[in-house]
Amino acid sequence: MNLKQKDIIRIVEALAVKKKAVIAVHYNPDGDAIGSALALSLFLQAKGHEAVILSPNELPDFLDWLPQTDKILVATQELERCKQKIKEAELIFCLDFNNFDRVGLLQQPFEEATSLKILIDHHIDPSPSFDIVYSVAEKTSSTCELMYHFLANILKEKKSITKEMAECLYVGIIIDTGSLSYSCNNQSTYRTLGELFRLGIDGGKIHQLVYDNFSENRVRLLGFCLSERLVVLPEFATSYIYLTKEDLERFHYKQGDIEGIVNYGLSMKNIRFTTFFTERDDRIRLSFRSKGDFNVNAFARAHYKGGGHKNASGGNSYVDMEHTINDFCALLKKYKTELTAKWD
Ligand code: 5GP
Ligand code: MN
Repeated sequence: MNLKQKDIIRIVEALAVKKKAVIAVHYNPDGDAIGSALALSLFLQAKGHEAVILSPNELPDFLDWLPQTDKILVATQELERCKQKIKEAELIFCLDFNNFDRVGLLQQPFEEATSLKILIDHHIDPSPSFDIVYSVAEKTSSTCELMYHFLANILKEKKSITKEMAECLYVGIIIDTGSLSYSCNNQSTYRTLGELFRLGIDGGKIHQLVYDNFSENRVRLLGFCLSERLVVLPEFATSYIYLTKEDLERFHYKQGDIEGIVNYGLSMKNIRFTTFFTERDDRIRLSFRSKGDFNVNAFARAHYKGGGHKNASGGNSYVDMEHTINDFCALLKKYKTELTAKWD
C-alpha cells in the first residue's frame, strides 16, 4: 500500500506546525523497529517537534549504543508515563508492526487514542486500525528501508537525513536481511544502502557493534541450544530448538540473548522449516523460519494466532512445552507433502 497523495498532504500539513509525537514499536523490539524509530525521532526533533519512543518491553542490550536509546520509555517499567504520553500525543507513528496486538500493555491505550495514527511497516495485511498506512511488504527489506524512502522521497527531506540517522537505518536493514542474505533481492535496498554510505557510515564498525558484542552467557547459550536442544526431523525437512525456563535461568537470560538463534535451525542442508520454542511465564513463544515456498506467516496465523512474513514469523502456544512440541509434531504430518516437495 503506497501512500496516496492526499495522505502525504495530511502528513506534511500535520508536520507543518510543532507537534507532540509518539512513536510506537512492537513487543521485543528488534533492530529494525528501534532503528527506524530512532531515525524518525531524530528527524522530528530536528524539525522542532517533541518525539518520544514507547516500547512495550525492554530493548536488547546489543542496541544500547544507538543514539538516545536511554530516552525510550518502556511500558513494563513506566506504564503510567507511557499512557500519559499516548493521551497527550497529537501524532502517533507505528513502526514495524501492523496490528495493535503487537504492543503488549500499550494495546488498549493505543487503540483508544484518537490522534492521527500513521503506520510505516513491511508486514503483509495491516489491520484497519491506522488512519494512514504506508505498508510495503514486497520487494523491501525492512521498515528502516521504508523509513529512508519516507523521509527522503515522500517528505522530500533527503538533506535532513544525518549520518547518525543513517547508522540507525543501517542497523535495521542488516538485521532484517541477516546481513544482506535474505529479503534483499531488490535494487532499491542496495540503492538505499548506497545513500546511507554516502552519509559516511562505517558498515564494518556497526556490524561489530551489533554482532560481536554478546555476553559470554549468550554465546554459551547458543552452544547449548545447538548441542543439547536441537532436534532434526529429516522426514519433514524440519528442525526445532526448544528452551525451558530452567535453561534460560541457567544461562542468566537477558532480553535479546536468543535473538537470531532460530536461524541456526535452518542452516542445515535439506532443512526448509525450523521452529524455536521458548518458555515464558504464561505461554510458549514460537519463532518460525523457512526457506523457499513454505509460508510460515500462513502457518503461524492458522495455528498459533501469530503472523509475520512468508519466511519469518512468530506465534504463541498456551499449553506446556511438552504438549506444544507434541502438537507441533502432529501438525507437521499435515504439511509433509508441502515440506518435502521437490525443490526448484
Ligand atoms: P521473531 O521470530 O523474530 O520474533 O519474528 C519474526 C517475524 O514475525 C517478525 O517480523 C515479527 O514481526 C513477526 N511476528 C513475530 N511474532 C508475531 C506474532 O505473534 N504476531 C504477528 N502478527 N507477527 C509476529
Ligand atoms: Mn522489520
